[in-house]
Amino acid sequence: KTFKELGLKESLLEGIFNVMKFEKPSKIQAETLPMILEPPHRNLIAQAHNGSGKTTCFVLGMLSLVDPEVKQPQALCICPTRELAIQNLDRTQKMGTFCTGTTYALVVPGQNFSSGIQDQILIGTPGRMADLVRRRKISLDQIRCVVFDEADEMLARGFRDFSITLLKEIDKKREKKNLQCQKILFSATFSDEVRDFAINKIPKANHIFL
Ligand code: AMP
Repeated sequence: KTFKELGLKESLLEGIFNVMKFEKPSKIQAETLPMILEPPHRNLIAQAHNGSGKTTCFVLGMLSLVDPEVKQPQALCICPTRELAIQNLDRTQKMGTFCTGTTYALVVPGQNFSSGIQDQILIGTPGRMADLVRRRKISLDQIRCVVFDEADEMLARGFRDFSITLLKEIDKKREKKNLQCQKILFSATFSDEVRDFAINKIPKANHIFL
């Protein structure tokens, strides 16, 4: 499918063509975007290396699911490092150039928030996210999409427990309202540790191994 045939909203097509200057989906994008974008927005576990174009997959997923009218966090992107979080934020903002009303926050150590975060797309490290959730600066009431980027790195850095806690709390909130939260996991490698996390914490997922 072409980007147009994926049913993306016009504002995102403008971001893809006019800002990113992408012409057609890469292999990983062609494989995963239909699953990510089309209802019922199933969970996804995918193997993808840096440079494959994986970022676009989850960035379009987040930007598509967010309701700009709702001024609360709706999508979380969990990154193993501050550097990756900054890169992913930059890509999301570029891709979302024409998504009027959509706002973003970088959630990493050193980034302070005096009041509750009202931005819709939060990109950062799991420790800082879990900390701000615990201190009620991040509300999980409206979270409809959670992305784990470079999950192998995330686990290697000891973020497993933070991530599991976050997912549990989000699911508890969503289940109360009988709503779903889409979970997307990308990892370059699948060790036993990654496999265990992916299979147990991201149930009923489509699996893509290129
Ligand atoms: P990523 O793996 O998502 O970081 O992407 C790697 C590089 O490929 C980045 O510089 C992207 O801008 C570029 N890229 C991603 N998707 C496409 C595409 N569909 N067409 C052309 N370039 C792309």
